[in-house]
Amino acid sequence: MIPYSTQDISEADIQAVVKTLKSGWITQGPAIERFEVVLAKAAGTKYAVALNSGTAALHAAYFAAGVKKGDEVIVPALTFAATGNAALYLGARPVFADVDPETGNMRISDARKAITKKTKVLVPVDYAGRPVDLRAFKTLARKHTLVLIADAAQSLGARFRGRPAASGADMSIFSFHPVKSITTGEGGAVVTDNPEYARLVRLFRSHGITKDAGHLKNKKEGGWYMEQQALGYNYRMPDINAALGESQLRRLKSFITKRAAAARHYDTLLKNIPSLMLPAQDSVTNRSAWHLYPVRVDAKKRRAVFDYLRSRGIGVQVHHIPVHTHPHYQKLGYKKGSCPNAERFYATAISIPLFPRITLRQQQYIARELKKSLKI
Ligand SMILES: *Cc1c(COP(=O)(O)O)cnc(C)c1O
Repeated sequence: MIPYSTQDISEADIQAVVKTLKSGWITQGPAIERFEVVLAKAAGTKYAVALNSGTAALHAAYFAAGVKKGDEVIVPALTFAATGNAALYLGARPVFADVDPETGNMRISDARKAITKKTKVLVPVDYAGRPVDLRAFKTLARKHTLVLIADAAQSLGARFRGRPAASGADMSIFSFHPVKSITTGEGGAVVTDNPEYARLVRLFRSHGITKDAGHLKNKKEGGWYMEQQALGYNYRMPDINAALGESQLRRLKSFITKRAAAARHYDTLLKNIPSLMLPAQDSVTNRSAWHLYPVRVDAKKRRAVFDYLRSRGIGVQVHHIPVHTHPHYQKLGYKKGSCPNAERFYATAISIPLFPRITLRQQQYIARELKKSLKI
């Protein structure tokens, strides 16, 4: 099966992990610090804090933003469930905004409609790696005194107006799951220019416990002394994984260039098919990380196209089931039909394989089979 996305592990990646295993320090240690420095640079921010998943990063970022019981967190309906779940973890209510019918990204107008007196945080998602205009979201967030957190789990390496896309928010989160831009096995990070947010995320990833002399509430009782100041979690990334991440980051640019080139091949191979809608192409100002290549087909045919491609060894997938339509969210009272664009997007979407090492031959095969499937 050709996967819809997969990691690209080099000999240098393997050596970096082996070196850490032999270093005598395998949980959070020096490799984390090195990884955080290079990640902040790649993200265009002052600070990066590594955690053990993108979901943990969302949870920590919402915590740092002060999200509490009764608050509302605006997220797009077309995202992975974790964007909403992390609000539930803190007793807050995710409010699902609809999305642009073409890009699948939340628009300013969608966000504006979802704002109430209880809104605390606004969370745009860069669907499929395509960055939103964070400057416009920042203006809206400032007007309503909201914290702007970009869920950039799919878009590390994307650029907006020549800058790393995720650098425009109060905090941005990344995921290093194997299907994302770079991998650490499992992993995630929060990046920010704000030292207080960075401190709170660090506190949260390690039980809420700190030894930082500058921030103790009580007097230090001795060399052993540490304080638990909040209820945190064990969200630490091991050094083994950070070493892999540091090594992977060296190839981030090349990964994105290869993904973008493969996307352009699909644009050519699949052009002028009336029953097929392709994702928007890159522009000078907006350069996607090309996490996914979601094509859109007639909703009535989607199931047959999907099944046919899977039967031909093509690991297509659908991104994403609108979060508010999952049984857990239905149980919480969310209504189907409340985000019609996201629901229609989901009903027509199929992600076809896209990853750095995909070959032109594989893409030609996929394009041929996709064309056949549309005639079923
Ligand atoms: C992958 C993903 C996450 C979760 O990341 P994990 O590392 O798998 O926990 C969150 N949000 C979005 C949009 C994602 O694509």
